[in-house]
Amino acid sequence: MANALTLLNHCAEPRSDYFMKRRNFISVLATLPLALSSALAFAAKRSTADIAALREQWRDLVPEGFQPPSVADTVSRTEAEWRQLLTAQQFDVLREEGTERPGTSPLNAEKRDGIFVCAGCELPLFTSGMKYESGTGWPSFFTSIPDAMNTKRDFKLIWPRTEYHCARCGGHQGHVFDDGPAPTNQRWCNNGVALKFLPTRA
Ligand SMILES: [Zn+2]
Repeated sequence: MANALTLLNHCAEPRSDYFMKRRNFISVLATLPLALSSALAFAAKRSTADIAALREQWRDLVPEGFQPPSVADTVSRTEAEWRQLLTAQQFDVLREEGTERPGTSPLNAEKRDGIFVCAGCELPLFTSGMKYESGTGWPSFFTSIPDAMNTKRDFKLIWPRTEYHCARCGGHQGHVFDDGPAPTNQRWCNNGVALKFLPTRA
């Protein structure tokens, strides 16, 4: 900047000043289509067909020897039974709709192939192929395994949010927002403590 100013002062002739300003304006313009095209390229990274394939073929990532329970085989337990089965933190999130502190889950950094199952009943909810880095400090996904979750409106904060929970045991998982990556634009913001990760290969 100092150099540019010095240059302007040194050749303070109106004509060259005009050309310099014009050149700067043109170079700003030139960067715009590039920024736009890279944003579009990012958005076009996954097609709707890719998302459908991820959802349909989630079983490809199930580790050998793990039998995923059926969502139809619902789980219902008393509060005392859940307290016995879960850690205090898991109970707070899954059964009381608590929220873990952001950035605390080891699952934020999980990048291996595998599936994320409900910590309450082991129903598969997401695969590693559905995960992305949202920068929020909570494990985030742009789609989910079909029929794994039920949703409800939540008015705990001033604005309404969409809460979602495991369709098998009813355990609270997180909230789904519409600011995720294209083409789904979904951001399933999940409490890491409500999930268990099962790597495809040990
Ligand atoms: Zn569950």
